Amino acid sequence: MHDEPIDPFNGDPADPTAGLDEPGDDPTPDPLTDVERQDVLEDLADLEIYQALLAPIGVRGLVIECEDCREPHYFDWDLLRGNLRHLLNSGRPRVHEPAYDPDPDHYVTWHYARGYADGVHDTLTEGTEDEPGTPTATQ
Ligand SMILES: [Zn+2]
Repeated sequence: MHDEPIDPFNGDPADPTAGLDEPGDDPTPDPLTDVERQDVLEDLADLEIYQALLAPIGVRGLVIECEDCREPHYFDWDLLRGNLRHLLNSGRPRVHEPAYDPDPDHYVTWHYARGYADGVHDTLTEGTEDEPGTPTATQ
């Protein structure tokens, strides 16, 4: 009775379907290429890191320059995650619904978030991580 579709992410810890309880009767259309899927998965992973780092210091989400409106949209963390998941599952971006009446002071760009995360990562890994091949003696 094993007639499951082949999962290209089988065994991959980043499996987007992991933990999801999807009904098996829906043949999910998959218009995204592997590369596009990977991009979205990486964005989702980044998002987790950014939220974990930035939410505690008062950042509520990210601001994204909208190509349609040509103005910035402010997205809460949950909204961003929902949009990315939707893109993964449906292959189509969701109609954007920015946060209601956002305070721009509480939103940062992807670029800022990435730079912040890199800085924190460097600080945290200094002397604490002992990966083979990674010299940590330099201080
Ligand atoms: Zn827009």
